[in-house]
Amino acid sequence: WAKEKGRDNAQVFTSNMTNAVTKKFSFEKEVNDGLFSQQFFLVYQPKVLLEKDNILGLEALIRWDHPIKGLISPADFIPVAEESDLIIKIDEWVIDQALMQLKEWRDKGVSLVPISVNLSGRHLVSDSLVSYISKKLAFYGIEGGYLEIEITEGVLLQDIQRCIDVLFELKGLNIKISVDDFGTGYSSLSYLKRLPLDILKIDQSFVEECDKHMEDAKICETIVYLARSLELSIVAEGVETAPQLEALISLGCEVFQGYYFHRPMKNTEVAKLLSSNLEEA
Ligand code: C2E
Ligand code: MG
Ligand code: MG
Ligand code: MG
Repeated sequence: WAKEKGRDNAQVFTSNMTNAVTKKFSFEKEVNDGLFSQQFFLVYQPKVLLEKDNILGLEALIRWDHPIKGLISPADFIPVAEESDLIIKIDEWVIDQALMQLKEWRDKGVSLVPISVNLSGRHLVSDSLVSYISKKLAFYGIEGGYLEIEITEGVLLQDIQRCIDVLFELKGLNIKISVDDFGTGYSSLSYLKRLPLDILKIDQSFVEECDKHMEDAKICETIVYLARSLELSIVAEGVETAPQLEALISLGCEVFQGYYFHRPMKNTEVAKLLSSNLEEA
């Protein structure tokens, strides 16, 4: 591994290398070792209701602090993990950590907001998801309303009936469902009425130029309109600038996530924000 030290993270876990089998094996071992020796951690990015610092919820995003490769972005290891059941192990770890965090904050008197976790499609349709979540909610004594899941459109298409069943079971636990990166998939819109969804997250790629290009603004506006008609909430992702924010406000968005407000941050930092959140409320 020392040889790989200086290499770009994106290349380190690419699976189509010549020695793919060896790579895959060592990747699995590294993830398992990493989970065991606490190399992974969560950062949290606030979702903000218009007024700055009025935090409605948090998105949990995983980070890997690798002993040799340094900090690795999920964009570089989640897609590889998604090729096997390893992703289930990772996502279960994320759910456990997020619920443990909520319990810790609650014990310290921090005012709680819901935390959303990203789930891979493989995990959503697996047999174990709902029982795992209900077991963990009970273990930490956290009400399901404090947990949300984020799934992408593509996930919902793989086995629609299975998705419907699982999502209704999650609704039974009072868990909210977000569609992440909305607008980037090739899905038919008919799934929107069949699935028990709560939130559409407008993908960053539309937000990026919504203040500059009419086409992007129109797409954002259409998603807002669609969400309203179906009684879903909207979160605009990846808001970085004041002009983007102003454009989104004029298009009818009310909840925002992005560097303009907050970067994803460590739990201790978020706890401070949540405490001031309470004072303002
Ligand atoms: P996502 O769920 O769409 O998460 C949003 C990504 O956009 C995050 O990148 C976040 O840090 C980044 N972001 C937020 N605001 C801004 C902004 O204003 N500007 C820009 N340029 N970027 C912004 P991150 O943390 O690198 O995550 C990338 C993707 O990796 C996520 O996309 C999600 O699909 C996946 N991911 C992250 N954590 C997990 C996890 O625990 N489990 C699974 N299955 N996937 C995860
Ligand atoms: Mg997400
Ligand atoms: Mg997204
Ligand atoms: Mg994304």
